[in-house]
Amino acid sequence: MFCFTDIQNYHGQLKTGETTCAQAVQFYLDRIKSQQDLNAYLEIFAEEAIARANALDAERMGGKSIGPLHGVVVGIKDVISFKGHALSAASKILENYTAVYSASAIEQLLAAGAIIIGRQNCDEFAMGSSNENSAFGAVKNAADKERVPGGSSGGSAVAVQADLCMVSLGSDTGGSVRQPADFCGVVGLKPSYGRISRYGLIAYASSFDQIGIFSKNIADAALVLEVIAGADDFDSTVSTKPVPAYVQAIKQKQGTKKIAYFKETLTHPGLDAEIKSQIENQIEQLRGAGHVVEAVDFDLLNFIVPTYYVLTTAEASSNLSRFDGIRFGHRTAEKVEDLAELYKLSRTEGFGAEVQRRILLGTFVLSAGYFDAYFTKAQQVRQKLVDFTSQVFKQYDFIISPTVPTTAFKIGTKHLSATEMFLADIYTVYANLVGIPAISLPLFSHSNGMPFGLQVMSASFEESALLSFSNSLMEA
Ligand code: GLN
Repeated sequence: MFCFTDIQNYHGQLKTGETTCAQAVQFYLDRIKSQQDLNAYLEIFAEEAIARANALDAERMGGKSIGPLHGVVVGIKDVISFKGHALSAASKILENYTAVYSASAIEQLLAAGAIIIGRQNCDEFAMGSSNENSAFGAVKNAADKERVPGGSSGGSAVAVQADLCMVSLGSDTGGSVRQPADFCGVVGLKPSYGRISRYGLIAYASSFDQIGIFSKNIADAALVLEVIAGADDFDSTVSTKPVPAYVQAIKQKQGTKKIAYFKETLTHPGLDAEIKSQIENQIEQLRGAGHVVEAVDFDLLNFIVPTYYVLTTAEASSNLSRFDGIRFGHRTAEKVEDLAELYKLSRTEGFGAEVQRRILLGTFVLSAGYFDAYFTKAQQVRQKLVDFTSQVFKQYDFIISPTVPTTAFKIGTKHLSATEMFLADIYTVYANLVGIPAISLPLFSHSNGMPFGLQVMSASFEESALLSFSNSLMEA
Protein backbone atom coordinates (compact mmCIF):
# COMPACT_ATOMS: atom_id res chain seq x y z
CA MET A 1 0.00 0.00 0.00
CA PHE A 2 1.07 3.56 -0.69
CA CYS A 3 2.71 5.20 2.30
CA PHE A 4 3.97 8.78 2.42
CA THR A 5 6.84 9.90 4.63
CA ASP A 6 8.44 12.77 2.74
CA ILE A 7 8.78 14.10 -0.81
CA GLN A 8 12.34 12.90 -1.32
CA ASN A 9 11.40 9.37 -0.38
CA TYR A 10 8.30 9.52 -2.61
CA HIS A 11 10.43 10.60 -5.55
CA GLY A 12 12.73 7.66 -4.84
CA GLN A 13 9.72 5.34 -4.98
CA LEU A 14 8.60 6.86 -8.27
CA LYS A 15 12.05 6.34 -9.71
CA THR A 16 12.22 2.66 -8.81
CA GLY A 17 8.65 2.14 -10.00
CA GLU A 18 7.55 1.12 -6.52
CA THR A 19 4.68 3.58 -6.87
CA THR A 20 3.16 6.02 -9.38
CA CYS A 21 1.58 9.45 -9.15
CA ALA A 22 -1.72 7.82 -10.09
CA GLN A 23 -1.44 5.41 -7.16
CA ALA A 24 -0.62 8.26 -4.81
CA VAL A 25 -3.64 10.27 -5.97
CA GLN A 26 -5.91 7.24 -5.64
CA PHE A 27 -4.63 6.64 -2.12
CA TYR A 28 -5.53 10.20 -1.09
CA LEU A 29 -8.91 10.11 -2.83
CA ASP A 30 -9.78 6.94 -0.91
CA ARG A 31 -8.55 8.41 2.39
CA ILE A 32 -10.50 11.63 1.85
CA LYS A 33 -13.64 9.59 1.21
CA SER A 34 -13.20 7.45 4.31
CA GLN A 35 -12.45 10.51 6.49
CA GLN A 36 -15.22 12.70 5.15
CA ASP A 37 -16.63 13.38 8.62
CA LEU A 38 -13.54 15.50 9.38
CA ASN A 39 -14.95 18.05 6.90
CA ALA A 40 -11.41 19.09 5.91
CA TYR A 41 -12.23 19.64 2.23
CA LEU A 42 -14.91 21.77 0.63
CA GLU A 43 -14.33 20.25 -2.80
CA ILE A 44 -12.20 17.53 -4.32
CA PHE A 45 -10.82 17.85 -7.84
CA ALA A 46 -10.81 14.07 -8.34
CA GLU A 47 -11.00 13.69 -12.12
CA GLU A 48 -8.59 16.50 -12.74
CA ALA A 49 -6.09 15.13 -10.19
CA ILE A 50 -6.24 11.64 -11.71
CA ALA A 51 -5.74 13.00 -15.22
CA ARG A 52 -2.79 15.11 -14.12
CA ALA A 53 -1.23 12.17 -12.26
CA ASN A 54 -1.50 10.01 -15.38
CA ALA A 55 0.06 12.72 -17.50
CA LEU A 56 2.93 13.15 -15.03
CA ASP A 57 3.50 9.39 -14.89
CA ALA A 58 3.63 9.25 -18.69
CA GLU A 59 6.09 12.13 -18.86
CA ARG A 60 8.38 10.59 -16.25
CA MET A 61 8.27 7.15 -17.79
CA GLY A 62 8.95 8.76 -21.15
CA GLY A 63 12.25 9.98 -19.74
CA LYS A 64 11.34 13.62 -19.16
CA SER A 65 13.16 15.21 -16.23
CA ILE A 66 10.91 15.82 -13.26
CA GLY A 67 10.09 19.07 -11.45
CA PRO A 68 10.91 19.55 -7.75
CA LEU A 69 7.28 18.90 -6.75
CA HIS A 70 6.59 16.24 -9.37
CA GLY A 71 3.45 14.35 -8.40
CA VAL A 72 3.28 15.97 -4.97
CA VAL A 73 -0.34 15.94 -3.84
CA VAL A 74 -1.23 19.36 -2.42
CA GLY A 75 -4.40 20.72 -0.84
CA ILE A 76 -5.11 24.45 -0.80
CA LYS A 77 -6.98 26.58 1.72
CA ASP A 78 -10.07 28.01 0.09
CA VAL A 79 -8.76 31.57 0.12
CA ILE A 80 -6.21 30.93 -2.65
CA SER A 81 -7.29 31.40 -6.27
CA PHE A 82 -7.03 28.47 -8.64
CA LYS A 83 -8.25 29.46 -12.08
CA GLY A 84 -11.50 27.84 -13.19
CA HIS A 85 -12.21 26.45 -9.71
CA ALA A 86 -14.66 27.64 -7.10
CA LEU A 87 -13.24 29.99 -4.49
CA SER A 88 -15.45 30.67 -1.48
CA ALA A 89 -13.33 31.81 1.50
CA ALA A 90 -15.74 29.47 3.34
CA SER A 91 -18.35 32.21 2.99
CA LYS A 92 -21.89 32.25 1.68
CA ILE A 93 -21.13 35.53 -0.02
CA LEU A 94 -18.75 33.82 -2.46
CA GLU A 95 -20.59 30.51 -2.66
CA ASN A 96 -21.00 30.54 -6.42
CA TYR A 97 -17.83 32.38 -7.34
CA THR A 98 -15.25 30.87 -9.73
CA ALA A 99 -11.64 32.07 -9.70
CA VAL A 100 -10.71 33.88 -12.91
CA TYR A 101 -6.96 33.56 -12.43
CA SER A 102 -4.52 31.51 -10.37
CA ALA A 103 -2.50 32.83 -7.44
CA SER A 104 1.21 33.15 -8.20
CA ALA A 105 1.94 30.49 -5.57
CA ILE A 106 -0.42 28.11 -7.41
CA GLU A 107 1.25 28.83 -10.74
CA GLN A 108 4.60 27.99 -9.15
CA LEU A 109 3.27 24.76 -7.62
CA LEU A 110 1.90 23.64 -10.96
CA ALA A 111 5.06 24.58 -12.84
CA ALA A 112 7.01 22.44 -10.36
CA GLY A 113 4.79 19.43 -11.07
CA ALA A 114 2.39 19.46 -8.12
CA ILE A 115 -1.10 17.96 -8.23
CA ILE A 116 -3.79 20.05 -6.54
CA ILE A 117 -6.34 17.70 -5.05
CA GLY A 118 -8.91 20.08 -3.59
CA ARG A 119 -10.01 23.17 -1.69
CA GLN A 120 -9.77 23.04 2.07
CA ASN A 121 -12.26 24.28 4.64
CA CYS A 122 -11.34 27.24 6.85
CA ASP A 123 -12.83 30.01 8.95
CA GLU A 124 -14.81 32.46 6.85
CA PHE A 125 -12.38 34.93 5.22
CA ALA A 126 -9.64 33.42 7.44
CA MET A 127 -11.13 35.02 10.56
CA GLY A 128 -11.06 32.70 13.50
CA SER A 129 -9.03 30.37 15.66
CA SER A 130 -11.15 27.23 15.64
CA ASN A 131 -12.60 26.72 12.16
CA GLU A 132 -16.08 27.03 13.66
CA ASN A 133 -16.66 30.19 11.60
CA SER A 134 -16.88 28.34 8.28
CA ALA A 135 -20.21 28.76 6.50
CA PHE A 136 -19.82 25.10 5.51
CA GLY A 137 -19.51 23.53 8.95
CA ALA A 138 -16.78 23.04 11.52
CA VAL A 139 -13.69 20.93 10.83
CA LYS A 140 -12.82 18.18 13.31
CA ASN A 141 -9.42 17.45 14.78
CA ALA A 142 -8.38 13.97 13.67
CA ALA A 143 -6.67 13.31 17.02
CA ASP A 144 -10.01 13.79 18.82
CA LYS A 145 -13.09 14.47 16.75
CA GLU A 146 -14.77 16.35 19.58
CA ARG A 147 -12.06 18.98 19.43
CA VAL A 148 -11.38 21.85 17.06
CA PRO A 149 -8.44 21.68 14.67
CA GLY A 150 -7.61 25.36 15.27
CA GLY A 151 -8.03 28.05 12.69
CA SER A 152 -8.33 29.64 10.46
CA SER A 153 -6.55 27.12 8.21
CA GLY A 154 -8.08 24.16 10.08
CA GLY A 155 -8.94 22.06 7.04
CA SER A 156 -5.40 22.41 5.71
CA ALA A 157 -3.88 21.30 9.02
CA VAL A 158 -6.20 18.31 9.39
CA ALA A 159 -5.56 17.26 5.79
CA VAL A 160 -1.85 16.84 6.55
CA GLN A 161 -2.52 15.36 10.01
CA ALA A 162 -4.93 12.73 8.65
CA ASP A 163 -3.01 11.88 5.44
CA LEU A 164 -5.50 13.53 3.11
CA CYS A 165 -2.67 15.13 1.10
CA MET A 166 1.13 15.38 1.32
CA VAL A 167 1.36 19.11 2.04
CA SER A 168 -1.11 22.00 2.18
CA LEU A 169 -1.02 25.72 1.63
CA GLY A 170 -2.77 27.88 4.21
CA SER A 171 -2.65 31.56 5.06
CA ASP A 172 -1.41 33.20 8.24
CA THR A 173 -2.47 36.69 9.27
CA GLY A 174 -2.14 36.20 13.01
CA GLY A 175 -1.36 32.54 13.49
CA SER A 176 -3.70 30.74 11.12
CA VAL A 177 -1.02 28.31 10.01
CA ARG A 178 0.95 27.88 13.24
CA GLN A 179 -2.01 27.60 15.62
CA PRO A 180 -3.80 24.77 13.75
CA ALA A 181 -0.42 23.09 13.15
CA ASP A 182 0.06 23.14 16.93
CA PHE A 183 -3.43 21.73 17.58
CA CYS A 184 -3.02 18.97 14.97
CA GLY A 185 0.59 17.92 15.54
CA VAL A 186 2.06 18.93 12.19
CA VAL A 187 4.68 21.43 11.00
CA GLY A 188 3.29 24.91 10.20
CA LEU A 189 5.49 27.58 8.63
CA LYS A 190 4.67 31.25 8.23
CA PRO A 191 7.46 32.84 6.19
CA SER A 192 8.57 36.50 6.48
CA TYR A 193 6.08 39.09 5.28
CA GLY A 194 6.86 39.51 1.59
CA ARG A 195 8.59 36.17 1.08
CA ILE A 196 5.73 34.64 -0.93
CA SER A 197 3.59 36.62 -3.35
CA ARG A 198 0.08 37.39 -2.07
CA TYR A 199 -1.25 37.72 -5.61
CA GLY A 200 -4.37 35.56 -5.70
CA LEU A 201 -4.69 35.25 -1.92
CA ILE A 202 -8.01 36.74 -0.78
CA ALA A 203 -6.99 39.70 1.38
CA TYR A 204 -7.93 39.75 5.06
CA ALA A 205 -5.37 42.24 6.45
CA SER A 206 -2.92 43.03 3.68
CA SER A 207 -0.02 44.19 5.84
CA PHE A 208 -0.18 40.94 7.85
CA ASP A 209 -1.26 38.23 5.39
CA GLN A 210 1.19 35.61 4.25
CA ILE A 211 0.75 32.24 2.58
CA GLY A 212 2.07 29.44 4.80
CA ILE A 213 2.88 25.76 4.52
CA PHE A 214 1.73 22.64 6.41
CA SER A 215 3.86 19.52 6.19
CA LYS A 216 4.88 16.45 8.11
CA ASN A 217 8.56 17.40 8.22
CA ILE A 218 10.91 20.34 7.73
CA ALA A 219 12.42 19.18 4.44
CA ASP A 220 9.04 19.25 2.69
CA ALA A 221 8.23 22.72 4.04
CA ALA A 222 11.66 23.92 2.86
CA LEU A 223 11.13 22.47 -0.60
CA VAL A 224 7.67 23.97 -1.05
CA LEU A 225 8.92 27.34 0.21
CA GLU A 226 11.80 27.24 -2.25
CA VAL A 227 9.31 26.70 -5.08
CA ILE A 228 6.72 29.33 -4.18
CA ALA A 229 8.87 32.13 -2.65
CA GLY A 230 10.32 35.05 -4.54
CA ALA A 231 9.72 38.14 -6.62
CA ASP A 232 6.47 38.62 -8.50
CA ASP A 233 5.41 41.46 -10.77
CA PHE A 234 1.85 41.08 -9.55
CA ASP A 235 2.59 41.87 -5.87
CA SER A 236 4.41 45.10 -5.08
CA THR A 237 4.91 44.05 -1.44
CA VAL A 238 6.76 40.84 -2.20
CA SER A 239 10.51 40.90 -1.68
CA THR A 240 12.92 40.76 -4.62
CA LYS A 241 15.57 39.15 -2.41
CA PRO A 242 16.91 35.99 -4.04
CA VAL A 243 15.40 32.75 -2.74
CA PRO A 244 18.05 30.70 -0.93
CA ALA A 245 18.37 26.95 -1.41
CA TYR A 246 16.37 26.11 1.71
CA VAL A 247 16.59 22.36 1.23
CA GLN A 248 20.39 22.52 1.06
CA ALA A 249 20.43 24.83 4.08
CA ILE A 250 18.72 22.34 6.38
CA LYS A 251 21.43 19.76 5.71
CA GLN A 252 24.11 22.11 7.01
CA LYS A 253 25.56 21.30 10.40
CA GLN A 254 24.30 23.45 13.24
CA GLY A 255 26.56 25.33 15.62
CA THR A 256 25.42 26.55 19.01
CA LYS A 257 22.88 29.34 18.96
CA LYS A 258 21.76 32.26 21.09
CA ILE A 259 18.09 31.90 21.85
CA ALA A 260 15.72 34.29 23.62
CA TYR A 261 12.40 33.65 25.23
CA PHE A 262 10.07 36.30 26.56
CA LYS A 263 9.65 35.87 30.30
CA GLU A 264 6.05 37.12 30.17
CA THR A 265 5.02 34.40 27.73
CA LEU A 266 5.81 31.73 30.32
CA THR A 267 4.29 33.54 33.31
CA HIS A 268 1.06 34.41 31.47
CA PRO A 269 -1.96 33.28 33.52
CA GLY A 270 -3.67 31.78 30.45
CA LEU A 271 -0.83 29.32 29.81
CA ASP A 272 -1.60 25.67 30.53
CA ALA A 273 0.65 24.39 33.35
CA GLU A 274 1.77 21.30 31.47
CA ILE A 275 2.62 23.25 28.30
CA LYS A 276 4.63 25.59 30.48
CA SER A 277 6.59 22.82 32.14
CA GLN A 278 7.34 21.03 28.86
CA ILE A 279 8.58 24.28 27.29
CA GLU A 280 10.76 24.83 30.36
CA ASN A 281 12.16 21.32 29.93
CA GLN A 282 12.86 22.12 26.30
CA ILE A 283 14.78 25.22 27.37
CA GLU A 284 16.88 23.08 29.72
CA GLN A 285 17.54 20.57 26.95
CA LEU A 286 18.68 23.33 24.61
CA ARG A 287 21.04 24.58 27.30
CA GLY A 288 22.26 21.05 27.78
CA ALA A 289 23.03 20.86 24.07
CA GLY A 290 25.28 23.91 24.39
CA HIS A 291 22.93 26.67 23.23
CA VAL A 292 22.63 29.87 25.20
CA VAL A 293 19.00 30.40 26.18
CA GLU A 294 18.08 33.59 28.00
CA ALA A 295 14.94 35.29 29.27
CA VAL A 296 14.18 38.71 27.80
CA ASP A 297 11.66 41.17 29.22
CA PHE A 298 8.70 41.79 26.95
CA ASP A 299 6.44 44.30 28.67
CA LEU A 300 4.31 44.76 25.54
CA LEU A 301 2.84 41.23 25.63
CA ASN A 302 -0.56 42.37 26.88
CA PHE A 303 -0.84 44.95 24.11
CA ILE A 304 -0.22 42.72 21.15
CA VAL A 305 -3.65 41.08 20.89
CA PRO A 306 -5.55 44.40 21.06
CA THR A 307 -3.09 45.98 18.61
CA TYR A 308 -3.51 43.09 16.23
CA TYR A 309 -7.32 43.23 16.35
CA VAL A 310 -7.46 47.01 15.87
CA LEU A 311 -5.17 46.94 12.83
CA THR A 312 -6.44 43.77 11.18
CA THR A 313 -10.12 44.69 11.54
CA ALA A 314 -9.34 48.14 10.09
CA GLU A 315 -7.67 46.56 7.08
CA ALA A 316 -10.40 43.94 6.77
CA SER A 317 -13.19 46.53 6.77
CA SER A 318 -11.54 48.11 3.77
CA ASN A 319 -10.56 44.88 1.99
CA LEU A 320 -13.99 43.31 2.35
CA SER A 321 -15.83 46.34 0.99
CA ARG A 322 -15.38 44.85 -2.49
CA PHE A 323 -17.89 42.10 -1.64
CA ASP A 324 -20.87 44.30 -2.33
CA GLY A 325 -23.32 42.05 -4.14
CA ILE A 326 -22.52 43.78 -7.43
CA ARG A 327 -19.09 42.59 -8.46
CA PHE A 328 -18.69 39.38 -6.52
CA GLY A 329 -20.86 36.63 -5.22
CA HIS A 330 -24.17 36.73 -3.43
CA ARG A 331 -26.75 39.40 -4.25
CA THR A 332 -29.95 39.71 -2.25
CA ALA A 333 -33.13 38.47 -3.91
CA GLU A 334 -35.22 40.98 -1.93
CA LYS A 335 -36.79 43.93 -3.69
CA VAL A 336 -34.74 47.00 -2.78
CA GLU A 337 -35.32 50.73 -3.00
CA ASP A 338 -31.79 51.91 -3.66
CA LEU A 339 -28.15 50.89 -4.01
CA ALA A 340 -27.32 51.34 -0.32
CA GLU A 341 -30.08 48.91 0.60
CA LEU A 342 -28.81 46.41 -1.96
CA TYR A 343 -25.33 46.55 -0.41
CA LYS A 344 -26.72 46.28 3.09
CA LEU A 345 -28.96 43.31 2.45
CA SER A 346 -26.48 41.42 0.27
CA ARG A 347 -23.74 41.81 2.86
CA THR A 348 -26.04 41.03 5.79
CA GLU A 349 -27.20 37.83 4.11
CA GLY A 350 -23.79 36.87 2.74
CA PHE A 351 -21.39 37.43 5.65
CA GLY A 352 -21.38 35.36 8.83
CA ALA A 353 -21.44 36.82 12.33
CA GLU A 354 -17.68 36.94 12.97
CA VAL A 355 -16.93 38.64 9.66
CA GLN A 356 -19.68 41.19 10.33
CA ARG A 357 -18.30 41.82 13.81
CA ARG A 358 -14.86 42.53 12.38
CA ILE A 359 -16.11 44.80 9.61
CA LEU A 360 -18.01 46.81 12.22
CA LEU A 361 -15.01 46.93 14.57
CA GLY A 362 -12.70 47.97 11.74
CA THR A 363 -15.08 50.66 10.52
CA PHE A 364 -15.33 51.96 14.08
CA VAL A 365 -11.56 52.22 14.68
CA LEU A 366 -11.18 54.04 11.36
CA SER A 367 -14.05 56.45 11.95
CA ALA A 368 -13.19 60.16 12.21
CA GLY A 369 -13.76 60.48 15.95
CA TYR A 370 -11.80 57.39 16.96
CA PHE A 371 -9.06 57.11 14.35
CA ASP A 372 -6.31 58.59 16.54
CA ALA A 373 -7.39 56.88 19.72
CA TYR A 374 -7.36 53.40 18.16
CA PHE A 375 -5.82 53.12 14.72
CA THR A 376 -2.97 55.62 15.18
CA LYS A 377 -2.23 54.28 18.68
CA ALA A 378 -2.09 50.72 17.37
CA GLN A 379 0.27 51.77 14.57
CA GLN A 380 2.53 53.30 17.21
CA VAL A 381 2.54 50.09 19.24
CA ARG A 382 3.36 48.18 16.06
CA GLN A 383 6.36 50.44 15.43
CA LYS A 384 7.53 49.94 19.02
CA LEU A 385 7.32 46.19 18.51
CA VAL A 386 9.34 46.41 15.30
CA ASP A 387 12.05 48.46 17.04
CA PHE A 388 12.13 46.11 20.02
CA THR A 389 12.37 43.08 17.73
CA SER A 390 15.32 44.42 15.80
CA GLN A 391 17.11 44.97 19.12
CA VAL A 392 16.40 41.37 20.16
CA PHE A 393 17.78 39.97 16.91
CA LYS A 394 20.97 41.99 17.31
CA GLN A 395 21.72 39.71 20.24
CA TYR A 396 19.88 36.48 19.51
CA ASP A 397 19.44 34.08 16.59
CA PHE A 398 15.98 32.88 17.57
CA ILE A 399 13.05 33.56 19.85
CA ILE A 400 11.11 30.58 21.16
CA SER A 401 7.70 30.34 22.83
CA PRO A 402 4.73 28.05 23.10
CA THR A 403 2.67 28.32 19.89
CA VAL A 404 -0.68 28.42 21.73
CA PRO A 405 -1.45 28.70 25.48
CA THR A 406 -3.68 25.59 25.51
CA THR A 407 -4.16 22.41 23.51
CA ALA A 408 -7.10 22.08 21.11
CA PHE A 409 -10.35 22.80 22.91
CA LYS A 410 -13.73 21.10 22.49
CA ILE A 411 -15.92 22.20 19.60
CA GLY A 412 -18.54 24.69 20.79
CA THR A 413 -16.85 25.64 24.05
CA LYS A 414 -15.38 29.06 23.20
CA HIS A 415 -18.03 30.19 20.82
CA LEU A 416 -19.66 32.70 23.10
CA SER A 417 -16.62 34.62 24.17
CA ALA A 418 -14.76 36.51 21.47
CA THR A 419 -12.12 37.75 23.89
CA GLU A 420 -11.32 34.26 25.05
CA MET A 421 -11.01 33.15 21.44
CA PHE A 422 -8.83 36.18 20.59
CA LEU A 423 -6.47 35.31 23.46
CA ALA A 424 -5.69 31.98 21.80
CA ASP A 425 -3.62 34.11 19.40
CA ILE A 426 -1.45 35.72 22.07
CA TYR A 427 1.81 34.02 21.02
CA THR A 428 1.29 33.98 17.27
CA VAL A 429 0.17 37.52 16.32
CA TYR A 430 3.53 39.00 17.31
CA ALA A 431 5.34 37.52 14.28
CA ASN A 432 2.72 39.00 11.92
CA LEU A 433 2.81 42.40 13.61
CA VAL A 434 6.56 42.63 12.99
CA GLY A 435 6.73 40.57 9.78
CA ILE A 436 9.21 37.91 10.93
CA PRO A 437 9.09 34.23 9.95
CA ALA A 438 7.79 31.75 12.51
CA ILE A 439 7.25 28.03 12.62
CA SER A 440 5.36 25.64 14.88
CA LEU A 441 7.14 22.34 15.47
CA PRO A 442 5.10 19.33 16.67
CA LEU A 443 7.45 18.34 19.49
CA PHE A 444 5.18 17.61 22.44
CA SER A 445 2.22 15.66 23.61
CA HIS A 446 -0.02 16.55 26.51
CA SER A 447 -1.38 14.13 29.11
CA ASN A 448 -4.86 14.90 27.69
CA GLY A 449 -3.74 13.04 24.57
CA MET A 450 -3.40 16.10 22.33
CA PRO A 451 -0.26 17.24 20.53
CA PHE A 452 1.21 20.72 20.89
CA GLY A 453 4.09 22.64 19.44
CA LEU A 454 7.09 24.84 20.02
CA GLN A 455 7.14 28.13 18.12
CA VAL A 456 10.51 29.29 16.79
CA MET A 457 10.98 32.74 15.24
CA SER A 458 13.94 34.33 13.49
CA ALA A 459 14.79 37.72 12.03
CA SER A 460 13.10 38.60 8.72
CA PHE A 461 14.29 36.60 5.72
CA GLU A 462 16.34 34.25 7.87
CA GLU A 463 14.24 31.25 6.84
CA SER A 464 17.35 29.21 6.04
CA ALA A 465 18.60 29.49 9.61
CA LEU A 466 15.09 29.00 11.00
CA LEU A 467 14.50 25.85 8.98
CA SER A 468 17.87 24.29 9.70
CA PHE A 469 17.54 24.94 13.43
CA SER A 470 13.98 23.55 13.30
CA ASN A 471 15.26 20.47 11.55
CA SER A 472 17.82 19.87 14.27
CA LEU A 473 15.09 20.18 16.91
CA MET A 474 12.82 17.76 15.06
CA GLU A 475 15.63 15.24 14.70
CA ALA A 476 16.61 15.52 18.35
N1 GLN B 1 -7.05 33.78 14.77
C1 GLN B 1 -6.59 34.97 14.15
C2 GLN B 1 -7.78 35.79 13.70
O1 GLN B 1 -8.85 35.36 13.89
C3 GLN B 1 -5.68 34.65 13.03
C4 GLN B 1 -6.32 34.52 11.71
C5 GLN B 1 -5.36 34.32 10.58
O2 GLN B 1 -4.15 34.19 10.79
N2 GLN B 1 -5.89 34.32 9.38
O3 GLN B 1 -7.65 36.85 13.17
